[in-house]
Amino acid sequence: MHQPPIPHIDAEDPEIAGLIHDEARRQHDKFRMIPSENYVSLAVLEAVGTVLTNKYSEGYPGRRYYEGQQLIDPLETIAIERAKSLFGAEHANVQPYSGSPANLAVYLAFAKPGDTVMGLSLPMGGHLTHGAAPTIGGKWLRPVQYGVRRDTGRIDLDEVRDIALRERPKIIFCGGTALPRTVDFPGFAAIAKEVGAVLAADIAHIAGLIAGGAHPSPVGHAPVITTTTHKTLRGPRGAMIMTDAEHASAIDKAVFPGLQGGPHNHTTAGIAVALREAAQPSFRDYAAQVVKNAIALAAALQERGYDLVSGGTDNHLLLVDLASKGIAGKPAAKALDRAGMELNFNTVPYDQRKPFDPSGIRLGTPALTTRGLTEVHMPQLAAWMDEAITAAAKDDEAPLDRIAAEIRDLLSAYPIPGWSD
Ligand SMILES: *Cc1c(COP(=O)(O)O)cnc(C)c1O
Repeated sequence: MHQPPIPHIDAEDPEIAGLIHDEARRQHDKFRMIPSENYVSLAVLEAVGTVLTNKYSEGYPGRRYYEGQQLIDPLETIAIERAKSLFGAEHANVQPYSGSPANLAVYLAFAKPGDTVMGLSLPMGGHLTHGAAPTIGGKWLRPVQYGVRRDTGRIDLDEVRDIALRERPKIIFCGGTALPRTVDFPGFAAIAKEVGAVLAADIAHIAGLIAGGAHPSPVGHAPVITTTTHKTLRGPRGAMIMTDAEHASAIDKAVFPGLQGGPHNHTTAGIAVALREAAQPSFRDYAAQVVKNAIALAAALQERGYDLVSGGTDNHLLLVDLASKGIAGKPAAKALDRAGMELNFNTVPYDQRKPFDPSGIRLGTPALTTRGLTEVHMPQLAAWMDEAITAAAKDDEAPLDRIAAEIRDLLSAYPIPGWSD
């Protein structure tokens, strides 16, 4: 059963209620390993389902364009103060609707159409919004892209510096969406300073690890920090931009009125609740365990002959190159999903295959860690993965449903937040 209960949807719209209950069951029965996903607490779920969704609040606390902000102003102020205190930032904007609009606000704040901007390329592990061709940044700006080295699978700061010196970008994005290694924020900061660019650290994937002390922080190195709130940070779908004092007003103006209208106040409440949770000692344990689990899973897969981009992981995420296993990423991901292990197919650096049919799979440990699984479970998980991938490589579907049942059995002892049968 979905928690919190949804009796009014059950009664008034059984069609939608049925889908929600089935999705809750699906999320309960599987190893969810898409590294950008998680399980939020019931408190966060409750916050985003409140009357706050009824209210318009264009502007910022104390400077609104609509009346009736007596309670919204303190709510948003609490969210801002919690973000600042959790990350040690001088300024926070909690209004971006999601990670992509947050990055767009950075472009709007610090670049003009046609200006050069720089980021990690999509096939090398960067995010679409870091300058990929089909995006607004790719079309309206002049993106130049850096990659990772073929031999190490890691970013080469000498290459980043060479490109930056040659191209003189207005903005440099660091961070990514398929980067298994620690981001060198001081290294990027030195390059940005040398070329006079604004360094924007996109910590969407690793914000929870940073908040929990399991990854170095960009604060003090990157004057602008964007993040989603719904990945390792374990809040509702949304985003924040944190800045130093100097860049605060440009970002606030870019988010509103530059890009958005009214903030989603119910999301702001969910962010505030999640930020309070992330400030508890137990969140540090969670962040450390996410990394421990990822390292254990990486080791167990390598023991079974799997080829990991960069040779392992420092964070929550693994990128596996299946080229040596005789199967592409997409059929492997489909077989794994049927076998109860949900992850995504992904390009690997220097992929010989096409982006929609690439060589790799991307997976991570945030959601399974939230459920309470630890490094002792990772060898068994790797064994299940290996069995399903090996079967799929031989077009053998027979073991998949059996593995899914075994996984359901194990996971029934690690319920998702608030689960009741
Ligand atoms: C997920 C992600 C985003 C975009 O977030 P959305 O909420 O999906 O728009 C931006 N940057 C990075 C690095 C991400 O991983």
